[in-house]
Amino acid sequence: MKLYLDFQPCQECNIMMAELSSPEMLFADAKTRADESAKFLRHLTYNHNEVVQAVMNDLPKQKRNQEFDFFK
Ligand SMILES: [Zn+2]
Repeated sequence: MKLYLDFQPCQECNIMMAELSSPEMLFADAKTRADESAKFLRHLTYNHNEVVQAVMNDLPKQKRNQEFDFFK
């Protein structure tokens, strides 16, 4: 994922990214997925604000939808 090229995920990030891409999450219902995504986005907002800014500013909208569906 391009998003993570220019920032160092902390341990919490790694845990949440692993959860988000786990088979359990892939087959989870929409609400569970949305909750997990929101949790991760909240963490990014508070702890890695530069990442959020970079994504919002620099990524073409189409790309963002493809690769970062948790930002929807
Ligand atoms: Zn983090």
